[in-house]
Amino acid sequence: METFDVAIVGGGPAGSTCAAFCAGAGLRTLLLEREKFPREKVCGDCLNPSCWPVLNRLDLVQRVSALPHAKLDSVEFIAIGGRKVIVDLPSGGECEFSVKRSLFDHLLLKRAGEFGAHIHEATTVTGLTTSHDWKIETGGGESFAASVLVGADGRNSTVARLCNLLPRPQRERIALQSHLPLPDNFGNRVVLQLLSHGYVGLSPVNGEELNVCLVAKPRNMNALKTWATKRLGVSPTHVWRTITPLTRAALPPAHENLFLIGDAARVVEPFTGEGIYYAMRSGELAAHAIVKIIRGEDRSATGRIRRGEQSTLREFVRACGEMYRGRLWINRLARVAVLSPRTASFLSHAARVQPVLRSLTAKIVTPN
Ligand SMILES: Cc1cc2nc3c(=O)[nH]c(=O)nc-3n(C[C@H](O)[C@H](O)[C@H](O)COP(=O)(O)OP(=O)(O)OC[C@H]3O[C@@H](n4cnc5c(N)ncnc54)[C@H](O)[C@@H]3O)c2cc1C
Repeated sequence: METFDVAIVGGGPAGSTCAAFCAGAGLRTLLLEREKFPREKVCGDCLNPSCWPVLNRLDLVQRVSALPHAKLDSVEFIAIGGRKVIVDLPSGGECEFSVKRSLFDHLLLKRAGEFGAHIHEATTVTGLTTSHDWKIETGGGESFAASVLVGADGRNSTVARLCNLLPRPQRERIALQSHLPLPDNFGNRVVLQLLSHGYVGLSPVNGEELNVCLVAKPRNMNALKTWATKRLGVSPTHVWRTITPLTRAALPPAHENLFLIGDAARVVEPFTGEGIYYAMRSGELAAHAIVKIIRGEDRSATGRIRRGEQSTLREFVRACGEMYRGRLWINRLARVAVLSPRTASFLSHAARVQPVLRSLTAKIVTPN
């Protein structure tokens, strides 16, 4: 059985970023990913400007900028009833950028490989056991061992489930997503439209395609699909990608020899388009902690990492908290707005809330 310093489950932005920084620091790094890349993902495809500093540390700014993309210059909030508020987005090096996840995630995964991570695609983790090290089993019958395990496997994390950490799913809402032909003169705007049944997000991802996300309770989804048929010309039989849950209790990001990063640790409301940043940054923070742990700077006499005793784990948890501080309340506010018809109807007085929306949007798109 091959043995690694760190095994990372999931090759999305969280897992690939963590793998790149771990391997770049010289750790024997394994990344196991269920899908064969490139693959699409239910997402609005928008990179919050906070992603750029992390991409810079991965030396990926130029390569990401060279992918087919759109630079987004404004967000158009449309309230129930049709009133609009348009808020400008930053331009230049700190712009909001949209790129298909098939391209972005594939580039990040390749970068992890360039740093020396061992990457196994089309490999699903199905079993975990731990004594001193972790033993990781896959659906294909392979086994691996690692000192540290990282769950970067998204909102329905298998790692968290196998470790009995995953909360019961709340199936309050689902999201559908697809790429459609870009309508003429759509412009470089993000549209966030509140409807009585849920909300819709639209953004161009290149010169030809429009990302469309529909978010609603399952019983209301047909109404949103009908809206997409009428307004966007989507065929009623169109096949959408789908994901759930949209809300889930957050999990502590550090446990004994175990880290949870990205959506596996905390699922944020998609409305504000920040999940990819949290995924990448938490992957980077976890890598710093894991490097210290593997180098033996934080081991107890038994050689085992004990929860709560080590400053490295405490520092990682503190840094994760810091990453969300000052931003999470806006995300919660967005969730209240999209869940509560009363708050949403408050938005219909758009002219009066314009300064508020402008200042909230500025906070979201200001890099940390
Ligand atoms: C409708 C919607 C719109 C969104 N829009 C945006 C947006 O515009 N901007 C933004 O920043 N965020 C957005 N998000 C959030 C964003 O998509 C996530 O926060 C982000 O993908 C989290 O990255 P991750 O690496 O943690 O997880 P994921 O991207 O979910 O990656 C997890 C990976 O783990 C793999 N995996 C799962 N189980 C296993 C297993 N058992 N074994 C091996 N591999 C496994 C999966 O195949 C996947 O590749 C949106 C979310 C939704 C639902």
